[in-house]
Amino acid sequence: MIILDNHFHVDPNNGIFLEAVKQFQRAGGTHLIVVYKSAHDYGFPGIKAEDFMKAMDFHLRLVEKINKETKVKAYAIVGVHPAEFDYLARNKGLEYAKKEVTKALEYAQKLCFEGKAVGIGEVGRPHYEVPREIWEASIELMKYSMELAKEADCAVQLHTESFDEEKFRELGNYIKEVGIKPYKVVKHFSPPLVKVAEEVGVFPSIIASRKNIEEAIKQGNRFMMETDYIDDKKRPGAVLGPKTVPRRTKEFLQKGIFTEEDVYKIHVENPEKVYGITLTL
Ligand SMILES: [Zn+2]
Repeated sequence: MIILDNHFHVDPNNGIFLEAVKQFQRAGGTHLIVVYKSAHDYGFPGIKAEDFMKAMDFHLRLVEKINKETKVKAYAIVGVHPAEFDYLARNKGLEYAKKEVTKALEYAQKLCFEGKAVGIGEVGRPHYEVPREIWEASIELMKYSMELAKEADCAVQLHTESFDEEKFRELGNYIKEVGIKPYKVVKHFSPPLVKVAEEVGVFPSIIASRKNIEEAIKQGNRFMMETDYIDDKKRPGAVLGPKTVPRRTKEFLQKGIFTEEDVYKIHVENPEKVYGITLTL
């Protein structure tokens, strides 16, 4: 059975890296979408476009290592985290930050064109309050990331503040404006608003807590599951652990909350469509 966690971080500097992947695998996990963390976490300053590019290359090497040294098949998502942009804008000025992050995002697109990454992310806007001009610039960069993804026919994973129906509708408007395919924009850390997401053309990646997934499946199976595992030894329990997606999936299948068809849709068909990949065991 294929089981995919759609938003998983690894961090050899601050976390347990391959050990986390092996825990996922031992619990029954088979495929991972591994999302870029931050230049700082990877040991780069995060001040110039080149720092982000080096951090993305570093990220690709981590994914390669997972594929070489474990039984899990991993795919990379690369980008610039909205908090990195915020930090840069506050410290070096808005125009400078926009210029450097734009260059870095174009590099992320290049890696998608080359088939080294399956998407751009996590990009979007900060989940905390920021000055108005940083907020607006973040939205511009989010739309630009969607344009880049549209051109490269790759996915984009969005990080945002907590979401409700109204915010899904706002995002739906940006998607229409850009003209990107409705299943290429993934809302990471999504609440279980499966129907609304489908209506506005967003693909929800839902945090795999019992409550969330129970609610999501009542609305349909057009979603993916994620832990947002952060792999940071200093913040244990800050998010769900690496075993959560396989455990929850098996539990729900056993209890009859998921059908076999649901599992196939959530873990195989949906990610294949979003990322344009073929998943096999
Ligand atoms: Zn994340």
